[in-house]
Amino acid sequence: MDSAQRVLLERYAEMLANAPLNLVAKGDRDDVWGRHVAEAIRVVEALQAREGERWLDLGTGGGLPGVVLAALRPDVTVTMLDARAKKVRAVQGFVTDLRIANAVAIAGRAEALARQPEHRERYDGVVSRAVGRLDVVAELSRGFLRPGGRLAVVRGADADAELTSVSDVLERIGFEAFARLGIAGAPRVTNVVTMQATGSAPGWLPRADGIPQSAPIGGAPSGTTRATRGS
Ligand code: SAH
Repeated sequence: MDSAQRVLLERYAEMLANAPLNLVAKGDRDDVWGRHVAEAIRVVEALQAREGERWLDLGTGGGLPGVVLAALRPDVTVTMLDARAKKVRAVQGFVTDLRIANAVAIAGRAEALARQPEHRERYDGVVSRAVGRLDVVAELSRGFLRPGGRLAVVRGADADAELTSVSDVLERIGFEAFARLGIAGAPRVTNVVTMQATGSAPGWLPRADGIPQSAPIGGAPSGTTRATRGS
């Protein structure tokens, strides 16, 4: 990270803290950098995105980690997706004000957008933080990924157990090469779980609106969901 990028991200942290919407939890506002941006910086480094790639941030909320990815990697195109139009407008405002030209925020549900031709199998990578269980995020992401594309999901301390419990299901929906990267220096235990799309996305994915969350393909909720913040 060069000094210009550092300044950019400090301004972003300030915008997040002062936004009228609850884009981060109230208790986090005095330390948005420490609790959110610093973690996102490490997550972005772990992605190892390649020059010219297109990445999607699924459930971006206030822009995490999408804004950080776009700021640190001007050579990568970033689409930030969220179901909440108000959040999307706020995030689009941030990137416009910060003159981050390689990012765009779009409103919609992943279940619907992943079926649209301009989004289906059009991304080299999907990243997602604090959206839900691994199997849920995997289902929501699968349709966006081109064959060979990569998914990176930010998870908490129980990432290994979670991965073990759903890896069969993830294989069934066309993922392979599972790995877990520990993120050092984050305020709480943070892992990035990565996997690769094996081929074309199965036509039945994702299922109808709301079903991925209400009836996860991995079975009954196991209680391992990382808290959803900022919604
Ligand atoms: N990634 C951000 C926000 C996490 S909150 C962060 O780390 O701070 C989870 C966000 O995911 C919410 O803003 C919610 O609107 C969005 N979301 C959840 N399910 C979604 C879906 N199916 N399609 C699109 N957005 C979704």
